[in-house]
Amino acid sequence: MNADLFGDEQQTILIVDDSELIHRLLEVHLRTEGHGLTHIVDPFEAVEATREQKPDLILLDIDMPGLCGDQICSALKSNPETHDIPIIFLTGKADIATKVRCFDLGAVDYIEKPFAAPELRARVRAALRTKRYLDLLSTRANIDGLTGLWNRARFDSCANAMVESKRRYGRDSALVLFDIDHFKRCNDRYGHPFGDKVIVSVADRMTESIRVGDTACRYGGEEFAVLLEDARLEKGVAFAERLRADINAMRLRFGDETVGVTASFGVASTEEAVVKDVESFVASADSRLYLAKRGGRNQVRAAA
Ligand code: GH3
Ligand code: MG
Ligand code: MG
Repeated sequence: MNADLFGDEQQTILIVDDSELIHRLLEVHLRTEGHGLTHIVDPFEAVEATREQKPDLILLDIDMPGLCGDQICSALKSNPETHDIPIIFLTGKADIATKVRCFDLGAVDYIEKPFAAPELRARVRAALRTKRYLDLLSTRANIDGLTGLWNRARFDSCANAMVESKRRYGRDSALVLFDIDHFKRCNDRYGHPFGDKVIVSVADRMTESIRVGDTACRYGGEEFAVLLEDARLEKGVAFAERLRADINAMRLRFGDETVGVTASFGVASTEEAVVKDVESFVASADSRLYLAKRGGRNQVRAAA
């Protein structure tokens, strides 16, 4: 899982309206814009569809039989999973009170029916542009400046999601925690800028070895963490062992000198009974990392 900072991928819009005609009209008017459109006619499906699809924008009819757009909007805004998805209300000829209510409910805009196609497109573009900036900001807030890896904040939320996924669906994940060996010596001998270069090289090696769905993080200073999705302890150990060997084989240049680097690894998995939350997940890996250090460094430990 790594960040697409420039976000040129297609943005998606979920359209919720009980009228098939409106869906067809919007489809025609927005055809040239290149967004991905999905359609919901039954208002009772809107909240679930939003949670599943995580669209970049919702066009939401305010006036539908059985369940009104404002109720759907309130439900989406009170759920942290869907809270940040912008909503544009589709209204009939709206009076001022209705317009004010749309904004107060958390909508970013409203569009009156019948649509003026260029205005519709412009309002949709504006909402999607803002969404892109917000996505970019939230991604940047989760990235480590030196290495480009995910940072500690992102680690915490991913680790939490993995523990949750174990609790709810029984899906196991593995955590590989590792720390560069005798890094203080490296800084003392070659200087801090070279130390930074070592950290970046280790991070690059780590990024090359992960699969889609795995999360590579800088946990702190010269300590790193990889969260492996759908993996038990055995898989975590195999991954750690490969990465340990790769780092061990790295050679960096310092003037005429060739410098090698090693790291020590601790592996844990949500299949262990002691793992109940993020803290115990990390503590389990960390205690093994400590054993790897005590055992002579440049090694992987996965048992107490
Ligand atoms: P051990 O094998 O037990 O892990 O020993 P160590 O020397 O690697 O561990 P220690 O915790 O004593 O020292 C870690 C050093 O890493 C101290 C700190 O100054 C350095 N460090 C932390 N973050 C950075 C960074 O971003 N850049 C550089 N160059 N050094 C860093
Ligand atoms: Mg260290
Ligand atoms: Mg350390």
